[in-house]
Amino acid sequence: MRRKLAAGNWKMNGTAAALDTLDALANTAASAEVLICPPTTLLSRAAERLSTSAIALGGQDCHAAASGAHTGDISAEMLRDAGATAVILGHSERRADHGETDAQVRAKAEAAMAADLTAIICVGETLQQREAGNTLAVVRDQLTGSLPDNSTGATVVVAYEPVWAIGTGKIPTLAQIAEVHSDLRASLSARFGAETAAAIRLLYGGSVKASNAAEIFAVADVDGALVGGASLKAADFAPIIEALDAS
Ligand code: PEP
Repeated sequence: MRRKLAAGNWKMNGTAAALDTLDALANTAASAEVLICPPTTLLSRAAERLSTSAIALGGQDCHAAASGAHTGDISAEMLRDAGATAVILGHSERRADHGETDAQVRAKAEAAMAADLTAIICVGETLQQREAGNTLAVVRDQLTGSLPDNSTGATVVVAYEPVWAIGTGKIPTLAQIAEVHSDLRASLSARFGAETAAAIRLLYGGSVKASNAAEIFAVADVDGALVGGASLKAADFAPIIEALDAS
């Protein structure tokens, strides 16, 4: 059985005052796993605030190397040391802003696994790619290139995030989400075998909010969500967690 996952990506938002959001979420009783990925500057303080909560913490990126001369970068081990148990990798904003390739994402995922962090690996097409009819091909290529060979349900989560749906208020139709998630599951099965594929969680991400969460979570092979804007306030994120629990 795949445990459902509601993951919040705070991106480059939040100073110390944002930790109050964690206090408000800390007692949310959920059977789903709840994960918040704050900016790295807040990780260790967030870990202190959540020390008695079931809410887990994650990073938003890591370097592929364990340590060394990489000014400004953070290693997977450093994230783990600061209190993270997971890390988002290959988010489309990093692929776009920093030119991250599938090979780099894969190397980072290997580093995350070595540091005992769950790698939440993002894939997703641009609007141009969707309109050209290339969605499945693009997402399959990203999946193949970004996932390490030893991926398992314990070490990897895949997030399908159509680039054009992130932060725009637009979401694909439920049939489009179902098509991609089903294809992702089939690709995982072809590469890792049915048993491993059945254990890897598939999140949908892109403009998830309280008003659309329930219908998205009802789609086959959607095991939860990666949520950006609506994870910044407890009043917005809590109903999404509730919808996931109820699905
Ligand atoms: C994201 O950045 O991963 C994301 C899904 O953002 P939003 O929910 O704001 O679209």
